[in-house]
Amino acid sequence: MSKRITILGSTGSIGRQSLDVIEHCAMEVAALTAHSSVELMEKQARQFHPELVVMTDEKAAADLKVRLADTDVNVLSGMEGLLEAAVIPSADTVITAVVGMVGLRPTLAAIKAGKRICLANKETLVCAGELVMAAAKREKAVILPVDSEHSALFQSLEGNKDRGEVKRLILTCSGGPFYGKTRKELENMTREDALRHPNWSMGAKITIDSATLMNKGLEVIEAMHLYDMPPEKVSIVVHRESIIHSLVEYCDNAMIAQLGAPDMRLPIQYALTWPKRVPGPSNPLDLWNCGPLTFGTPDLDTFKCLALALEAAKTGGTAGAILNGANEAAVAQFLAGKIRFLEIADRVEKAMAAVPVVQTPTLEDVLAADQAAREAAL
Ligand code: NDP
Ligand code: MG
Repeated sequence: MSKRITILGSTGSIGRQSLDVIEHCAMEVAALTAHSSVELMEKQARQFHPELVVMTDEKAAADLKVRLADTDVNVLSGMEGLLEAAVIPSADTVITAVVGMVGLRPTLAAIKAGKRICLANKETLVCAGELVMAAAKREKAVILPVDSEHSALFQSLEGNKDRGEVKRLILTCSGGPFYGKTRKELENMTREDALRHPNWSMGAKITIDSATLMNKGLEVIEAMHLYDMPPEKVSIVVHRESIIHSLVEYCDNAMIAQLGAPDMRLPIQYALTWPKRVPGPSNPLDLWNCGPLTFGTPDLDTFKCLALALEAAKTGGTAGAILNGANEAAVAQFLAGKIRFLEIADRVEKAMAAVPVVQTPTLEDVLAADQAAREAAL
């Protein structure tokens, strides 16, 4: 399959798994970006021969330039470099796998440049879903989901011509490492406890979001934008085993689901090869030995972040940017050992109360809401 791909965030969990798929499917790499993981980036550049590599950290970029002096790989730095990688003419596809709202501007740039977007960076849609989806419509850019739940929804919606036939989207939720715990028990949870996810191995930020269940709230907003659904048509079911990746319930009560082993390389690959399917590196699901599948209701009282995200989903406008900005700031503080686990939700709640919401925001409104929320959360 001849494809030339740029990965924004190639040294992360999604980035590394994307390269695994690219290698397996004999695709080519146009550009790679990272923040400061110089050593891994050097290795990736030597293996995949991109035209361009970008380190957003200036010192890391200078270091990488020296390391790659014997090659013809171009090295750039900073946000300008990231934007250049997003629009590099030789790529047809951009995988957005940076973590956080920093992905917004490069995603918009890639859409404008007519690239196929394989979107992992959910914070972008949470902050500016209306702007991003409107830009994609205007530019006739295809956005394909990498997030496993959204890929499952995408696959379960294939063939559906009338969104009016969809009763609701149902996102499955593993419940995270703290499933079944009380608020009292969560008081003393450490960074190490929270980083131990039962089913998925992911970057630190999304792993904490999975422990607070904020991740599922972000995914509700992501699904609303991707599939043009109101919040009341997106439900969550707790499914501890992460075998069913999400479902669509239709108006005749039929439910269509996508199943698979918990392996991100499958949704990454489908975003790259759609509408075709090809053999790939992901693990098969052993249905005969995977044990019983269970379903339950999320606990919104214990996991306040999820309740706050659902509130932001209903409010719309810049509420998503406020929720996300405050959460990014609070999670960084938790990872740095500066606040306790339950304080993440408190900080987000505080920011949501403090920062006024703007409906139908411009990009400037979104950036201002993000900034104000970060300040309020700290
Ligand atoms: P990681 O933390 O593993 O990787 C993040 C990547 O972004 C790294 O390449 C990192 O570079 C780069 N990066 C970090 N900070 C910046 C910055 N300020 N500017 C530019 N680049 C930066 O994250 P994941 O791969 O886990 O997640 C990436 C995105 O995909 C997130 O939005 C997440 O929500 C989403 N996602 C992830 C899933 C998963 O299974 N991991 C599943 C579904 C969605 P460096 O290594 O140099 O720090
Ligand atoms: Mg997900």
